[in-house]
Amino acid sequence: MLTFDNRFLNTLPGDPNPRNHSRQVHGAFWSRVLPAPVAAPQLIAHSPEVAAMLGLGDAQMRSPAMVEALSGNGLLPGMESYATAYAGHQFGNWAGQLGDGRAILLGEAVTQSGPHAGERFELQLKGAGPTPYSRRADGRAVLRSSIREFLCSEAMHHLAVPTTRALSLVLTGDQVERDMFYDGNPELELGAIVCRVAPSFLRFGHFELFASRGESALLRQLIDFTITHYFPHVAAAHAGASERIIAWYTEVCERTAKLIAQWMRVGFVHGVMNTDNMSILGLTIDYGPYGWVDDFDPGWTPNTTDAGGKRYAFGRQPGIAQWNLARLGDALATLGDPSPEALGDALAQFERTYSREVNRIFRDKFGLRDDAGHPDDAGDNEATIDAAFSLLVQQETDMTIFFRTLATAASVDALHAAFYSDAAWQEARPPWQAWFERYAALVARQHPSPDSLAARAARMNAVNPKYVLRNYLAQQVIDAAHQGDHAPISELLDVMRNPYDEQPGRERFAEKRPDWARTKAGCSMLSCSS
Ligand code: AMP
Ligand code: MG
Repeated sequence: MLTFDNRFLNTLPGDPNPRNHSRQVHGAFWSRVLPAPVAAPQLIAHSPEVAAMLGLGDAQMRSPAMVEALSGNGLLPGMESYATAYAGHQFGNWAGQLGDGRAILLGEAVTQSGPHAGERFELQLKGAGPTPYSRRADGRAVLRSSIREFLCSEAMHHLAVPTTRALSLVLTGDQVERDMFYDGNPELELGAIVCRVAPSFLRFGHFELFASRGESALLRQLIDFTITHYFPHVAAAHAGASERIIAWYTEVCERTAKLIAQWMRVGFVHGVMNTDNMSILGLTIDYGPYGWVDDFDPGWTPNTTDAGGKRYAFGRQPGIAQWNLARLGDALATLGDPSPEALGDALAQFERTYSREVNRIFRDKFGLRDDAGHPDDAGDNEATIDAAFSLLVQQETDMTIFFRTLATAASVDALHAAFYSDAAWQEARPPWQAWFERYAALVARQHPSPDSLAARAARMNAVNPKYVLRNYLAQQVIDAAHQGDHAPISELLDVMRNPYDEQPGRERFAEKRPDWARTKAGCSMLSCSS
């Protein structure tokens, strides 16, 4: 049984217009809207951990009433459905009102017992039909993108990267028309719905919407709501409105910095870091044309829509996050108080937090120490890491395999496994050998005992995953699903549950991208069409 307390709906003003047609919505945070029914819902995968977090067992997950709710065909007692209003900057340009165009909230479930008792989670169907915010689109989602969102939400969680979660994946039995590469070749595809779960789906764009319209009272109301319920420690520590906003915005900057540092740790590229895709809680949100770097290439973007500008490429994510935070700061500045200067000072916290986090993370990934007591440690660590980065970008080198190999590499030849071609390895071996000798000497200096070395390997294996949701692995699962075989979805989810463990018999899931996947759609090239 789920228990609902729909606080967002019950405490913030909504749109009085009950009709579901595309429009500009003013003076409101949400519009009531019912999910549009689907023809033949089928639950094809679910996350047992998310179900348990909500207090749901396996039988409850599979019950007809639950499957109806997860497909938009009916509401469970206590559920109230609505879509929220937000705006955003897309690809650097102001886009005006966007809103939940195909995401419909079902309410806020409050877990009644177990380790998550008292915690509150929004349930949100993605692909459940049109809303007042759908503009000209259909409100639906296709199977391929829904599989990708379902799997990646959970993979990120198990990798310990902050993220929204995915409860379920439902095949709707309806078809959806999509022009995948925007080249005038639309095709009918299978429709699907993911039920996403998070404490809140609020985005930077929610705040930008009210700021852009000069609706200051609503903006203040939203800020108060957010701080009171999601940042209660900020509310407790600061009495004045202006200090509160600064403290809260500073924390949003810190959380976002930590999030991006985690993306860089695991090789995740979001692909569409528009301000409407930035969570106010610092979660990874909206899995669209994301990708995982196979080859360590800071210039790589999975998003074909971004192929020209590469605005959202792997290595640009920190700078873009900072730009997005500045847009949030602009929105807050419309209140007049706090001052733009105070907001600018708070934004500076992003850079400080990011560089501290990313330095720590990469020191850990390389298994180096800053507490070994040698006066040269800091400088030697930095020089060693920088030298590795400049070599890594020269040849196609698999990021995940490279780092995973370092923990146990006895000689430079262990690194061969990370290279995408033997020719590249032959060319790269001499400079890597020079690097490896320096690195091994530094490691020996910092870890003088066998115990210390063993602890180092364990620590490295806890930050360098063996298994990540490689683009081609997700695509293989999608191809199987299109043939009617859904078992590989849960099988891949199961692998991603323990990404830091060796999983005997499952080595194939840790292999570098095969050659056939180099340029295949879905494996290295993804569009926003979903
Ligand atoms: P995205 O690029 O997926 O983050 O979406 C940007 C905006 O477009 C959001 O407001 C989405 O809700 C909306 N949107 C994307 N796809 C659809 C769709 N198929 N139907 C309605 N709205 C959509
Ligand atoms: Mg989005």
